[in-house]
Amino acid sequence: MMTERDIQTAREDLAAAFRWSARLDMHEAVSNHFSFAINDEGSRFLVNPAGIHFSRVKASDLVVVDLDEPLPTPEQGGPDPTAAAIHGAMHRNNPQARCVIHLHPKYVTALSTLDDPTIIPIDQNTARFFNRVSYDIDFGGMGLGDEAERLSATLGNRSIVLMGAHGAMTVGARVSDAFDDFYYLEKAAETLMTAYASGRKLRVLSDDVAETTAQQWANYSFDLRGAHLREIKAILDVEEPEYRH
Ligand SMILES: [Zn+2]
Ligand SMILES: [Zn+2]
Repeated sequence: MMTERDIQTAREDLAAAFRWSARLDMHEAVSNHFSFAINDEGSRFLVNPAGIHFSRVKASDLVVVDLDEPLPTPEQGGPDPTAAAIHGAMHRNNPQARCVIHLHPKYVTALSTLDDPTIIPIDQNTARFFNRVSYDIDFGGMGLGDEAERLSATLGNRSIVLMGAHGAMTVGARVSDAFDDFYYLEKAAETLMTAYASGRKLRVLSDDVAETTAQQWANYSFDLRGAHLREIKAILDVEEPEYRH
């Protein structure tokens, strides 16, 4: 059970992740969503309200969606309807999905359009995702209804869905986990798409080396994911401290 303090921390972590995603140009107009489950069932979660630019989201702006209550409309300060559908299904159907980050950044989205979007291991960052991504290639429109249920089932026990013809979602126990995975997912996609664009033959790592590298990322001796978000918050505390309000 989350305390009020835990929920406030989740709000501040999400606000920092939104603002940093805008700085990295991983946002898209006033679309895309991050959410965080605040009950064990995943039926209540924090999410960004429709129409607010990522660069100015504050902790207090995030709205609580309760799947058992009528959804507030965007005009009432509610979320984008596709956010409620997709993130609701993700939280309700996947206990590991406490935080869900959903973006359409340049390289992940370009990769998602390939006939085979598999992240093949060609460097440390791509190897981090070896056999650790679920691929959804059945894009059927903007994420209402069946689309949400199918995406949430595709995740399985993994923490990343590459959404064909769309973008990606990463999930984690903490905002820092899901955000760090998305950061590296975009880096991996950038490296892979740039390497593909060379037209030269790629030297793909062996399965053994790729698997070892992925395990080394997962079991790293210090909390890189936590440190990443902590440093982002430290920078924002100096440059735009109102994100915590
Ligand atoms: Zn989307
Ligand atoms: Zn979303």
